[in-house]
Amino acid sequence: MLVPLYPHTPVQFIKGVGQARANVLQAAALNTLRDLLYFFPFRYEDRRHPTRIADIGRNIDQSVLLRGRVVSAASKTSPVKRMKIFEAMFDDGTGTVMLVWFNQPYLADQIKRGDHLAIYGQPRLSSHGRVQIESPDWEKIDEDDESEGKIVPIYSKIGNIPPKALHRIIANALESLDTLDDTMPPDVRERLGVIGLPESIRRIHQPEELTADFLRYRSPEHLRVILEEFFTFQLVMRVRRAADEVKKKSRAITIDDDLRAEVKRILPFKLTGAQKRVLKEIADDLRSDRPMYRLLQGDVGSGKTIVALIAAIIMIRNGHQVALLAPTEILVEQHYQRIRQLVDHSLVVAKATGSMTAGERRTLLAGLRDGYIQLVIGTHALLEEKVVFKSLGLAIVDEQHRFGVEQRQRLFAKGDLPDILVMTATPIPRSLALAIFGDLELSVIDELPPGRQRIKTAVRSAPEIERVYKFMDEEIDSGAQIYVVYPLIEESEKLNLKPLSEGFETIRRRFPNRRVAMMHGRLSTAEKEETMAKFKRGEIDILVATTVIEVGIDVPNASIMLIVEADRFGLSQLHQLRGRVGRGARKSYCVLIRNPRAAEDSIERLNIFEASRDGFEVADRDLHLRGPGEFLGTRQSGLPRFRFGNILRDFDLMEQARDAAIEIVDKQGAARAEGIAREMLGVAVEATRD
Ligand code: ADP
Ligand code: MG
Repeated sequence: MLVPLYPHTPVQFIKGVGQARANVLQAAALNTLRDLLYFFPFRYEDRRHPTRIADIGRNIDQSVLLRGRVVSAASKTSPVKRMKIFEAMFDDGTGTVMLVWFNQPYLADQIKRGDHLAIYGQPRLSSHGRVQIESPDWEKIDEDDESEGKIVPIYSKIGNIPPKALHRIIANALESLDTLDDTMPPDVRERLGVIGLPESIRRIHQPEELTADFLRYRSPEHLRVILEEFFTFQLVMRVRRAADEVKKKSRAITIDDDLRAEVKRILPFKLTGAQKRVLKEIADDLRSDRPMYRLLQGDVGSGKTIVALIAAIIMIRNGHQVALLAPTEILVEQHYQRIRQLVDHSLVVAKATGSMTAGERRTLLAGLRDGYIQLVIGTHALLEEKVVFKSLGLAIVDEQHRFGVEQRQRLFAKGDLPDILVMTATPIPRSLALAIFGDLELSVIDELPPGRQRIKTAVRSAPEIERVYKFMDEEIDSGAQIYVVYPLIEESEKLNLKPLSEGFETIRRRFPNRRVAMMHGRLSTAEKEETMAKFKRGEIDILVATTVIEVGIDVPNASIMLIVEADRFGLSQLHQLRGRVGRGARKSYCVLIRNPRAAEDSIERLNIFEASRDGFEVADRDLHLRGPGEFLGTRQSGLPRFRFGNILRDFDLMEQARDAAIEIVDKQGAARAEGIAREMLGVAVEATRD
């Protein structure tokens, strides 16, 4: 008896799949009928229109499909390079052409006279003026092959399943397409102007035409599947968030005149227009009865900290605590110092780092638990289970790109629906921000504080470094301080400090009369703090460092950033480093030293960097050059892999998907939206009921 098939039916019930093949498919994560439906071809062969060999002269250097028979085949050895050559004379009734393979002698056992083949390749003129096709793709075809004369989908290989069998299995699966519900509500579909899902899936497996749009994944059927992916992704994020959103915050936040006056008193400068705007967005969120989830983007130096601090003061004066999470101890220290300067002793501020003594830790934990500490600034140490707040009202995550989603959630769990503000100085292009942070509102500080001058950026080749050193000497004479950065991957387990310490020695020898210090992530906290404090006080002329200084460090007197082996850094990272200078009144420089043998494309990258100053522009370029995965680094686990969707190219679709997801949650409620999301994710609804 036939088992009725549903999207969640295990693959072994599909015709053509026995237990053995089911195992092979499952090993490739193809578990259900739905998985097979979404296992799309990676290319197509149009077997409808083979080229006639008689016409091949017009197709030199273009890929052609030929169908015909092998009329003779022979192996030989080329006299010149002693290369093994296998040649087959190929005839399609209109003419003959020579097929040539190099160093594949085993082909003599596979391709025989009389074989009927389909051939893909580019005809070329050999040095003797003969038309031949070198190393073509080939496939034996049966005269009665059902794919003959069709557009044939080509699937990636799955274990040992022969391609034809896999093709058959998927075709069988497609017969049950009717059972696949189109979960995107009809009105949404209509508004987005897309066709139905089952029909789209069928057309991608079995296209009737290979139009240009189709091959670029821009056909209506591709757009439908892209939207499906994006929509599911957005819906899941929204549902996750909606579960919190329906809950209302129990705290009421008010901003009265006293509070306004206090903020005015604290502010050492006038806020920029952009800072005011985002501050208002944040203040509105704090006062709303729904928890805030906001991403604050702003280029390096755009002044995010002060905005976060004002938000913190609002929360604290309303009787709740605030946590500020930062990626490094240096940054914690810097935030701590700066905030202490601004707020004096009117706030109880504490630090939380991994290097606290047992006693400090006890005091901290007690102070947070009984609410005495109003603002805590810390590293990952804040996320420990032991850290309990009396009433955490606002959690701020600085330099979000150094943290993952789980860490954000761990902090969130420490309060009763705390408001969340995440800040990033890696300006993520809007498209990507929507994709990864679709559950966050976006605020952007798109204006630098007044008086910032443009940092002069120059790329120099390593042999020119002496001229750069001379320039450094002159600048130090006039009172400047300098960073010299060596590439080192701080995250790596076996950290190789050799290049850095060698670099340090080089600089020391070259600048014998200057005060030179070294800093890297493996120094103790005390040593790092000591060095940083000395640098800030102007007691160090040249700080030789790794990228530990990449984020957030603020020393206004530092005016040269020298980056050694700059071709080994990502553009966004270079931009972060460049942002360490130009923070004061001094004219500032960023000098990139590149390897004289650097690859063409990395030279190109550095030149792009030299020419662009805006972080968004840099990030956008970087993203396009390296792709989202590399760009975000391994820590960003939140980004799914989409089949056809490309968040750069298709960001308009991502926006539509996001709006549609928001609408569904709003109109139909979180519970219904969750049901839809679950169906879309392919989790059998029945299965979740057990
Ligand atoms: P980032 O956004 O990179 O975290 P910061 O918050 O560290 O930037 O600010 C960079 C520098 O600019 C700090 O020294 C800060 O005091 C200063 N700053 C911030 N906002 C203003 C402003 N509106 N006017 C003048 N200086 C400002
Ligand atoms: Mg900062």
